Amino acid sequence: MQATLEEAPQPPTLGENEHMIELHCHTTFSDGTLSPTRLVESALMAGVQAMAITDHDTMSGWDEATQAAIEFSTHYDQPLEIVPGLELSTVHNEKSMHILGFYPDRDKLTAPLQERLAGRKRRAQAMVDKLEALGYPIELPEMGEGMAPGRPHIAKALQTAGHVQDMREAFDRLLGEGKPACVEYEKFSSTDGIELLLSCDAIPVWAHPFLFRGGELEIVLPKLLEAGLKGIEVYHPSHTDYQMEKLKGICKQYNLLMTGGSDYHGPGAGHHAGLNSQNVPIGLLDALKATKLSQVAS
Ligand code: AMP
Ligand code: ZN
Ligand code: FE
Ligand code: FE
Repeated sequence: MQATLEEAPQPPTLGENEHMIELHCHTTFSDGTLSPTRLVESALMAGVQAMAITDHDTMSGWDEATQAAIEFSTHYDQPLEIVPGLELSTVHNEKSMHILGFYPDRDKLTAPLQERLAGRKRRAQAMVDKLEALGYPIELPEMGEGMAPGRPHIAKALQTAGHVQDMREAFDRLLGEGKPACVEYEKFSSTDGIELLLSCDAIPVWAHPFLFRGGELEIVLPKLLEAGLKGIEVYHPSHTDYQMEKLKGICKQYNLLMTGGSDYHGPGAGHHAGLNSQNVPIGLLDALKATKLSQVAS
């Protein structure tokens, strides 16, 4: 039987203090499992008011997300604002460091990102070659033009080929940092990343600082601030309450923007945080927008 509109799921009715946002989400244009359209629909159903599309090293998901947000918002009579963003992969002290960039000028960032994407493709191939040499041949799925391959795609291919039981085993045995088939990003330093984002009018924010394995926060942060870092991702599923409180204090001390999100990758991606899991207050987005406006004006 076909579901009528009345029976179809509806977005929740929100109370005055329940206006929540997501400033960190992935789609199938990088290693998320939901297309931008499906992600937007899920976000509306979870009561998200504004959502940043922050795929790894690509802006390719923005247009579809924006279009879907317009259509679904009208259909459900509930607005969902799409915030353009990305999660830039950089290296600091030879360890992976992710820098979020919000509101970049797409025209300025397109060409430099092409180079980052090409690097990701070369890196994926290097990991496939390493795996082959280790006795784990895999077939990587076709990746379209603006899509960013990452270790999760390789983990999935290892699972499909029957070399590992699940994604976790793939990372634990072969793909995690320092494991035999892991290949680091091509040389692109955190400070180069921050400078690139600034030159493209984006707001650079250090993503999930407590996932960083290349040094103490107190020592690393000053170097990033010197390069022009504007904010820190405070709310993240990997952070403990204590860590989030600490980050809030640091943001206050250095007058930095706070952001946050569930780093949602969709169902079956090996990440456990659901949409709206972090209850990120909508006020953080106002501060982000104010910074963007003052950046453009100066
Ligand atoms: P990449 O950008 O190719 O280095 O892949 C990074 C992504 O891999 C992260 O955003 C996570 O989604 C995923 N990832 C990293 N480490 C692990 C791990 N130990 N277990 C599962 N997923 C992981
Ligand atoms: Zn990811
Ligand atoms: Fe990340
Ligand atoms: Fe992420």
